[in-house]
Amino acid sequence: MSLSGKEREEFEKQLEAYVGIDIGIEDASRDAVNQAMIRQWCEAMGDACGAYTAPEAAAKSVHGEVVAPPAMLQAWILGGVAMATGEDDPRDKQRELHRLFDARGYTGVVATNTEQEYLRYLKLGDRIRARTQIESISEQKATGLGIGYFINTRTRFVDQNDKEVGWMTFRVLKFEAGDQPAAAAESNSAVPAKPQRLRPALGHDNRWWWDCVEKDELAIQRCSACAVLRHPPRPMCGECQSTEWDYVFSSGEGTIHSYVVIRHPEVPGYTYPLVVAVVDLAEGTRFVGNVVDIEPEEVEIGMAVQASIERVDDEMKLPVFRRAS
Ligand SMILES: [Zn+2]
Repeated sequence: MSLSGKEREEFEKQLEAYVGIDIGIEDASRDAVNQAMIRQWCEAMGDACGAYTAPEAAAKSVHGEVVAPPAMLQAWILGGVAMATGEDDPRDKQRELHRLFDARGYTGVVATNTEQEYLRYLKLGDRIRARTQIESISEQKATGLGIGYFINTRTRFVDQNDKEVGWMTFRVLKFEAGDQPAAAAESNSAVPAKPQRLRPALGHDNRWWWDCVEKDELAIQRCSACAVLRHPPRPMCGECQSTEWDYVFSSGEGTIHSYVVIRHPEVPGYTYPLVVAVVDLAEGTRFVGNVVDIEPEEVEIGMAVQASIERVDDEMKLPVFRRAS
C-alpha cells in the first residue's frame, strides 16, 4: 500500500501538528533511586564498580556515597510490564502519532538511534521524572526496511527539585512493513520469523558488488587509473583519487592476516562462536569475512584459506572462508 500524492500531502500536514509538542504525559519514577535496582542492573550488565554497589568502597570514591550508574537513567522512569500490556493513555500524543502512522500502513517500527547526556550522578533517594517532546519528523525516506518516516523525540529528566539531571534523544523509523516479507512476518504474525543476519546497507557505490555475489562471483574493485585494488567498494581511489573503476574476480585464495572470535553478545541470525578474519587475498587486497567449519582454537594467523560464496539465508549469499586443503 502506498499513498497517492494528495493523500501523502494531507498525511504530512497532519504530522506537522505533532512537531514540537510535549507528548502530554509525565513519566515519574515508581521507586526512588535505590540499591536493589542498582545491584540488579549492575549484575545484568556485568558492571562491578564499587561506587554503585559497595557502600564502603563508594564512601572512599570521589562520590563519597553510593551512586547509580549514569546509563541507568531511563530505567528509573520505565513503566514496567504494563508498558507492553497496558492500555494506551489517551493523553499520550506519541502513541496517538504512532497510531496515525499505523492507520496509513506504516505499521513497522524500529528504534534506530539514541543519545543520552548525564548532568549529574543520581544518588540513593533521588526521585526522577521525565517529559518527552516530539522534536522532529523527517520527510518520507526510502530505507532498507521500506518507505517510512523517522520520528525524533527528546526526553528531559529532572530530580525532586526540578533540576535537570540528564536528557535522551530517541529516533524511531515508522515504515511500511508490507514491502518486506521478513519484516511483515515479524509484525503481523504471532510466530516470530527466523532471525536473519544483518543486511548490508545497499547504495549506488556497493550494490554492484552484492549483485556479483548473487551470481557467485567474488569481485574486487580496481582503480582504472592506477590499477590498485580496493575493498569494500567505494567511489574513489585512496591512492590516486580517481573515481574511474572496474573490477576483477578473486580466486578466493588467501591467508589469514588477523582474526577475532566473537562469543558475546550473541546477535540473532549468527552462529557462535563466530570467527571473523581479515584475509590477505592472493590478488593483493584485504577482505573481512567469517571462517567456518573450524574450531576457533584451530584458527591461526598465516593459515591458508579459500573463499566460496554460499547462501546464508533465503535472501542473502555471502563469501565465507574455509581452511584450504
Ligand atoms: Zn588509483
